[in-house]
Amino acid sequence: MSAGFSIRFLGTGTSVGVPQIGCSCKTCTSSDPRDRRRRCGAYVSCAGASFLIDTPPEMRLAAIEYGISKVDAVLLTHSHMDHVSGFDDIRRFNTINGIKVPCDPNSSGANGRTWRIQGRPLVCHAMNETADQMHAIFPYIGEEGGKNGLYRPQVVFNRADIFDLDGEEGGAHVERILVGHGFPCCGYIITPRKGGASLAYISDCHDIPPETLSRIRGVDVLILDCLREREHPTHLSLSRALSYVEEAAAKKAYFIHMCHDLTHQEWESRLEGTCVSPAYDGLVVELPTECGGAK
Ligand SMILES: [Zn+2]
Ligand SMILES: [Zn+2]
Ligand SMILES: [Zn+2]
Repeated sequence: MSAGFSIRFLGTGTSVGVPQIGCSCKTCTSSDPRDRRRRCGAYVSCAGASFLIDTPPEMRLAAIEYGISKVDAVLLTHSHMDHVSGFDDIRRFNTINGIKVPCDPNSSGANGRTWRIQGRPLVCHAMNETADQMHAIFPYIGEEGGKNGLYRPQVVFNRADIFDLDGEEGGAHVERILVGHGFPCCGYIITPRKGGASLAYISDCHDIPPETLSRIRGVDVLILDCLREREHPTHLSLSRALSYVEEAAAKKAYFIHMCHDLTHQEWESRLEGTCVSPAYDGLVVELPTECGGAK
């Protein structure tokens, strides 16, 4: 998945996950694998830049299942636990991205080797409030890491609203977009730096301010929160989400953050005749890297 432009959904479920613990409803007991929804997160490859959006609790399990080992950065939407509680597991990417440094083979942890891996900090892009909250939730994280630069997540926060991510095919251009969630929260617009389709990722949201709506207008692929049919104070319901898809004039959209009210099949029938599909865990969406609409 390193070439081109693609997004893989690592999780598509609401904060308690689907199935919910101890629930015997039709969705929670369904045998359709698409009805098993981990907490929301995604893995994006864009013109050689590979990054995670959020670090949900099952991020490690998803990374293993999908063979994800190349992670150059993390983008956080907000610090609700269903989006960040897997953050400690970025330690593996610190190690994978690390460098070999010489060491005394008799020193602690060297195991007789003349070298050890020095972890490399991962850049984590987050809004100001989110970066501050991450330091409060995980007081042990920092640029240095633990002893020998391991065991503790090594992270450098970038609080900028607009940034580029390097990649061998030109990399990605990323812009933060603010959304209403009753809590400091953002989404992202991602485009290949050398041109191509645009992707907007909005995981948790109840309303989209006019400025954000104008910035996502005409987007090729819109990933959007849609919790359930009934209204909710901090998440989009089906009718609200569909009206935003229409207002944004998205060419294609996928709903995420779904609770157990509806099965995947039921979502598909509710969305028939629209440009929207319910996402499911593991789904990969490919986007063109040259001008044109989404496949
Ligand atoms: Zn959430
Ligand atoms: Zn249930
Ligand atoms: Zn949230």
